[in-house]
Amino acid sequence: MAAEAVPEEVLLNNDLIKELVEVAKDTALLHGLLLRTKESPYSSEVVSYIPFTLFPTPVPRDLFQQALQVQTLFNQLVDKISRDSCFLEEALAGPIKVDMFTARLFQIYRTVQQEACAQSIALCLNRSDYMLDLRPDRNATLKQIEINTIAASFGGLASRTPDVHRCEGALKLSVHSKRVLDNNPAAGLASALAKAWELYGSVKAVVMFLVEDIQRNIFDHRCIENELWKRNIPVIRRRFSDVFKTGLLDQDKKLFVVEVCFCGSLCMQSWEVRLMMERSQAVKCPDIGTQLAGTKKVQQVLAQPGVLERFFPNEPEAVARIRATFAGLYTMDIGEEGDRTVAMALANPEKFVLKPQREGGGNNIYGEEICRVLQEKSERVAYILMDKVNPQPSRNYLLRHGSPVKLATCLSELGIFGAHIRQGTDVVWNQCAGHLLRTKSAEYADGGVAVGVAVLDNPFLV
Ligand code: ADP
Ligand code: MG
Ligand code: MG
Repeated sequence: MAAEAVPEEVLLNNDLIKELVEVAKDTALLHGLLLRTKESPYSSEVVSYIPFTLFPTPVPRDLFQQALQVQTLFNQLVDKISRDSCFLEEALAGPIKVDMFTARLFQIYRTVQQEACAQSIALCLNRSDYMLDLRPDRNATLKQIEINTIAASFGGLASRTPDVHRCEGALKLSVHSKRVLDNNPAAGLASALAKAWELYGSVKAVVMFLVEDIQRNIFDHRCIENELWKRNIPVIRRRFSDVFKTGLLDQDKKLFVVEVCFCGSLCMQSWEVRLMMERSQAVKCPDIGTQLAGTKKVQQVLAQPGVLERFFPNEPEAVARIRATFAGLYTMDIGEEGDRTVAMALANPEKFVLKPQREGGGNNIYGEEICRVLQEKSERVAYILMDKVNPQPSRNYLLRHGSPVKLATCLSELGIFGAHIRQGTDVVWNQCAGHLLRTKSAEYADGGVAVGVAVLDNPFLV
């Protein structure tokens, strides 16, 4: 049985749905849930609403709380990993042999490790994503899909979705507006950025958002930018190519053009720019170690026996809480253990997901395709294997500019934002900054909002 936030008679009442869809779209526009259109991605002259669900989606209260409560531990874990060069080197040894992207990141990490560290403030804004795994013999459990330590988007717009779903509540549906939770990751993330700016200690410093050439999701960023402007902190937006042309370091490694940077982009057009920024006195978000800590390979290594204990040596309770969220994760390294993983995947490919060291959705491999890749490719160490998580489907209407509205069977993914600042060895900020629910039609195995598959949603606690 699928679980929905609204009763069957509402879900199937076409006239009512039509009316609600119109109200929902207007409310979304009214509250700034915006996206530039595919046709004019460079301009805000014509915009539309960001894809979203008509109704919120039920999420068990205890699992939601569990995800919130473990976030500060994940913040700490990422920070500890980012500083542990021996661990990163060992964990990523396989992927950096065959995956150029990870290899280049690692090269920059090594280069800056060998130099005197120009900045002792480390800022990390991350998002840990989960699905609720349902097995026949037990209640749903919280399973981490991945942690994003770079370009963790939708903190801005997720701050505005509750207003849309609450408005439908006002239409006397069974969605009680109070059960759609308050959520303000824009403020949570901006507070951490503001704190980092303050610690940097120069009124002349600006926060730079490093952005891609095509910025359809600009309104998501603007929410956070506005939160900073409200605190009188200046913000600029620059592309890699801009920094390449105009950025320079002075003798103190002060980065001109940029002083605090927020890497909202994954497409590294210029590795030179990345190295220059990494060497600079700017507070980076993320720094290169933090980015590497968020790789799929690190996630897999963390799930091996004894590894979490390395980072939390005297904290068995912390270890247990983090470990409870891990799905089965398996190495593809060359050797007996990797061979066992391959045999296991080939025997039951539908039970697993094969993941490369990539971000942004649409890169994973499923089902029979796993067999093909494993049989053809010699570069298996670039991947990790993960148990496929099976969330309970729910039915909802997905609203997307230009697409017909139809009832869809959907799967949801819960993200929790975290913010962490360390200055030298002192942790000065460690907070959970809000949540994000994304929902997609169950016919897609993979893919986020950016690639046009998932849409924004709200948890409705049950
Ligand atoms: P990316 O960094 O590209 O977002 P993810 O690990 O989040 O990589 O995978 C992309 C999408 O694939 C997820 O949003 C989810 O829908 C699906 N997915 C990933 N891992 C699993 C899994 N173990 N079980 C089920 N679905 C998964
Ligand atoms: Mg990711
Ligand atoms: Mg993801």
